[in-house]
Amino acid sequence: MLKWALQQERNLPWKQTKDPYKIWLSEIILQQTRVEQGMPYYIKFVEHYPTVLHLANASEDQVLKDWEGLGYYTRARNLHQTAKHIAYQLNGVFPSTHQGILALKGVGAYTAAAIASFAFQLPHAVLDGNVFRVLSRFFGIDTPIDSPIGKKIFEQLAQELLDPSQPDVYNQAIMDFGATWCMPKQPNCRSCPMRDHCVAHMTSSVAKYPVKEKKMVKRKRFFHYLMLHSEGQIMLEKRIEKDIWQGLYQFPLIEAPYLMQDTQQILNTDFWKTHFVEVSFKIHSVSKTFKQLLTHQQIFANFWDIHLSHFPQTLREKTLFATKTELNNFAFPKIIDCYFEEKALYLGFNS
Ligand code: SF4
Repeated sequence: MLKWALQQERNLPWKQTKDPYKIWLSEIILQQTRVEQGMPYYIKFVEHYPTVLHLANASEDQVLKDWEGLGYYTRARNLHQTAKHIAYQLNGVFPSTHQGILALKGVGAYTAAAIASFAFQLPHAVLDGNVFRVLSRFFGIDTPIDSPIGKKIFEQLAQELLDPSQPDVYNQAIMDFGATWCMPKQPNCRSCPMRDHCVAHMTSSVAKYPVKEKKMVKRKRFFHYLMLHSEGQIMLEKRIEKDIWQGLYQFPLIEAPYLMQDTQQILNTDFWKTHFVEVSFKIHSVSKTFKQLLTHQQIFANFWDIHLSHFPQTLREKTLFATKTELNNFAFPKIIDCYFEEKALYLGFNS
């Protein structure tokens, strides 16, 4: 693995530093995110917030805006809160022990091992999806990786294999190997330097690994965003529910157990009847259905472009207003950004 890394290792910006703050930034950005997608965000965050103090002193709205498009916004909120914690409770000094790193909000076992080994050369083995895949194939382990016993077996094995004299190099190597060589589909077995020792390859059973116990059932959710506008202004609300979109902005939303395509269905909802009985309106258009796949849920959304004679008083307390150009100042969930992207030429609410 170490020999392979010498020739093949990926040259990524966060590998050029030993600054734990920057390594932590990169690891949080890369959670559930591909390297190609995360790279511009890492560069932007290092530029906008060169130290933990800069990040701590930024507003949450600004951090969420810089995070926009990356998804899983809980990471951004944890990042911001943890920066404040380090800046003000830990006097701006990043923890340098594995235990101290693990105690940070938003940092799990994998991220703690990565930061501890990359920044401080502490001998803690990383275990992420790439490592599970490489180890299960190479050793032919068919214990499910998502079972308690499976997790224990792989944790022990990963730790035994770690070279304690260069934990940073080894950890990076096995992750890079999983990401670029021993990929989930069509791994590069033909030119793999370990093929003669790899159980999965020798038994022609590469596709079988890693074995998983549970199949995830994704919850389907149906969103109807109401783009309500009047006299050149559009109505927005800040999402306060404690979920992955907390703190982001959106158009007033009706969630239903199915996708409503028919105007009458929208007009029959409690939301519409509560707020719009005394308002004249014209529905300009209904968008196509946008889809977003998240780890545990599938989102289906359509956007209703509606012109109002005036904004109802009953909604004014919970909402705010923006012009078309001001929309750029707010961070929105990804599915709304996809809608904006599609409508780039129009971004239009007719007033
Ligand atoms: S031989 Fe194939 S399955 Fe085995 S470690 Fe190499 S790339 Fe992975």
